[in-house]
Amino acid sequence: MTKKVHIPVQLIIEHGAIPNLPQSPVFDWLKGQKVLMVSGSGKTRRVTEQVQEVIVGHAATVQVLTCQSNSLDTINELERHVLEDPPDIIIGAGGGKALDVSKVVGTRSNVPVILFPTAISSDAICSPVAVIKMLNKSTSIGVKMPQAVIIDLDVLSSCPPRLMSAGIGDLLSNKTALFDWHLAHRAGKEEMNTFANLMANNAVESFMNTLNQDEYDESLLKVASEALIMSGIAMSIAGSSRPCSGSEHLISHALDYHCGAKALHGEQVAIGVLFSQYLQGRVKRIEWLAPYYEKLGLPTHYEDLGYTREEMHRAIQMAPSMRNRYTILNEVELTDEEIDRILDEVYPVEAKNRYDLKGLTVG
Ligand SMILES: [Zn+2]
Repeated sequence: MTKKVHIPVQLIIEHGAIPNLPQSPVFDWLKGQKVLMVSGSGKTRRVTEQVQEVIVGHAATVQVLTCQSNSLDTINELERHVLEDPPDIIIGAGGGKALDVSKVVGTRSNVPVILFPTAISSDAICSPVAVIKMLNKSTSIGVKMPQAVIIDLDVLSSCPPRLMSAGIGDLLSNKTALFDWHLAHRAGKEEMNTFANLMANNAVESFMNTLNQDEYDESLLKVASEALIMSGIAMSIAGSSRPCSGSEHLISHALDYHCGAKALHGEQVAIGVLFSQYLQGRVKRIEWLAPYYEKLGLPTHYEDLGYTREEMHRAIQMAPSMRNRYTILNEVELTDEEIDRILDEVYPVEAKNRYDLKGLTVG
């Protein structure tokens, strides 16, 4: 039996990808087409203008709409616009919100989407999942994969370090997520897709191997971008976010739903990974990720992300109820005392004040 898997037709990750666009096959797709650009607000708007300058005169028309948020209202408004004046292609340019909104509107109106991420803050840059805000709560929904993803490394290299930390947190979570998937499979709760498992694991392994080399600074952005894209494709193969989302994501979702969503998705996931990894280590020895946190300057204490001890405690309690997803949290009995003891052990006082939140606000 075979399965149809959707992956982008074109992936371009290089320095100067935007000015060099006329040399890529994607440029041919745009010839004589009606293009709608969905742009992020703020500094990412400059990247939209860069793309616009390259394609104007080649595409039949280029219209730019700015996306202020990923709320359902914004999506409905954009969708109405698309239905009234249907474009041939939607280009999403910006950080997470503009990309998510482009994917949702493209899926609902059946228009192909090309993405130009301006940061690699999560594996959503190339995934069949988008996060939208409904009634002030973030929800993940299934969407079509983009037709092309174009990452200009010159653009990424000037993005705030917090976004990069978040992306790497989201990538490292493949390890704990895959552990949970195997648990679910062994418990007879879920099918295992070995190819998706292989891809998600190779994505994070290739990144870790690069980090273990002596000189990695130059190649890190490219390798991280590739690894996050591979993670997105692993999700497309699995038909769900399973290969890249386990108990550590449930903890992050609980922080969003019950504790005010104070930090970036990938930052919260990085904090969740530390807790999940501790629990998983009791079941079977697993590879400890702490040295990578040290090396990359990832957050190691929930207080550095603005959460109190009580909020973190509540997030751990609520995590299993966030999704119908079997994880390590289903296999351990966590009393209040036990949660407190583990919080002390996983997030010791000395893990505080190591993470710099400067340069970006979350909203
Ligand atoms: Zn994630």
